[in-house]
Amino acid sequence: MFNKTILTFFLILIIGCKHNKEKSVQHFQKITKPNVIVILADDAGYMDFGFMGNKDLDTPQLDKLAKRGAVFTDAHVSATVCAPSRAGLITGKYQQRFGFEANGTGGIGLSDDVETIADAFKKNNYKTIALGKWHLGESHSDHPNQRGFDDFYGFIGGSRSYFPVQNPSKGHTLQYNGKRVIFDGYLTDVLGEKSVSYVEENKEHPFFMYLAYNAPHTPRHAKKEHLQKYKDHPRKKLAAMMWSLDENIGKLIDKLEETNQLENTLIFFLSDNGGSPHSFADNGPLKGWKGNKFEGGHRVPFIVHWGKEIKGNQTFNGLTSSLDIFKTSMAAAGIQNNLELDGVNLIPYLKGKLTGNPHEKLFWRKLDEAGVRLGSKKLVRLKDYGSTLYNLDVDLGETTDLSNLDERTSNLLHQELKAWESTLMKPLWDEGDWMPVTYHIHESLMENKVPFYTTPERREKYLKNQLNKSN
Ligand code: CA
Repeated sequence: MFNKTILTFFLILIIGCKHNKEKSVQHFQKITKPNVIVILADDAGYMDFGFMGNKDLDTPQLDKLAKRGAVFTDAHVSATVCAPSRAGLITGKYQQRFGFEANGTGGIGLSDDVETIADAFKKNNYKTIALGKWHLGESHSDHPNQRGFDDFYGFIGGSRSYFPVQNPSKGHTLQYNGKRVIFDGYLTDVLGEKSVSYVEENKEHPFFMYLAYNAPHTPRHAKKEHLQKYKDHPRKKLAAMMWSLDENIGKLIDKLEETNQLENTLIFFLSDNGGSPHSFADNGPLKGWKGNKFEGGHRVPFIVHWGKEIKGNQTFNGLTSSLDIFKTSMAAAGIQNNLELDGVNLIPYLKGKLTGNPHEKLFWRKLDEAGVRLGSKKLVRLKDYGSTLYNLDVDLGETTDLSNLDERTSNLLHQELKAWESTLMKPLWDEGDWMPVTYHIHESLMENKVPFYTTPERREKYLKNQLNKSN
């Protein structure tokens, strides 16, 4: 009898230990595998955030995140317009390598051969979700659910109303995994709430979230109460849209903190391209805007936050790319793969184990317009027109062309650009009406002049006027 009691006692002890061990394995996985969240703003200005030095817009939540993480001063996206920039970010490769060079006027799509960051996470037992704007193609094979995302809650196109629309087009329709969603209220809030509930629902499992807000891209829609809040502001609509964006990012951070996940979540925040004059964005000291191969087109606000894993309150000045997000995320999650990526793992730089520039060179090209960075030197090249050379160390505003003074550097940058181009595919589509417009903008900015037109509509009007004048 006594032996039987002892035996039962030990049996209970062994089963209990086993159960606890299983529980702790689950717990261990959650602790060691960080969540990864990429928060993308759309067309936000380089200078339109408090953490970038802005004084007239309010972004307290992002400023707080920036303070607890690293703020980059020389970070760039791989394209100066929405779709190709997203194609680069989500694949970790220069998008021109698979023909996704231009924004397109329809019929765009991600090559079937290329793997996305969501594919890589999904293969490694992460849950994956894309929220918000997709803009990587509207066909079935381009749908986020086919490109590594378990869940997609957003819209497929490049922009949409921030309020409900009765009969939206396919690209404008808000959907959850292909099924139309009827929503109430303001889209930035809807996406924010979805991000919060996803964090709550996935406390026990590592996840990858791609949170692509369409704010502050046009249309310039804001909530009534925020327009009232900023009623005397010279950039009232933008101020109100940015407030909503910041407020919703704050809710996500609060939820991560409340569920004890903030420390173990790697968070990136950036804009998909430079600020657009159509939304009254401010790119501060940078020349040009969205769509240009000048710094105002591709240098973006960029935050990395990862609890105590990286040094907080740091400003990182090394040359960095949105292409680095893929590789950095894989490294943080301890995922090995054989993908040929163009990015760099930023973690050693942010831990202070490596110093200097993650990239020695960066390249940009969209059809006729190209740019290359080598150290502090930057070359802008316009097909059949010429090139300009700048030294960003002393001329961040790209005002002084050094081509004639420093022919050797100019030639070297041309060679670098050509060598990179030899690795690219022919662009799979062009940009129709926008091509002569962006060509004219580049021509003008290379000569430090104000362009006569900045949209296809304004170009048409300008040409009509010129014709009338000559008659
Ligand atoms: Ca954009």
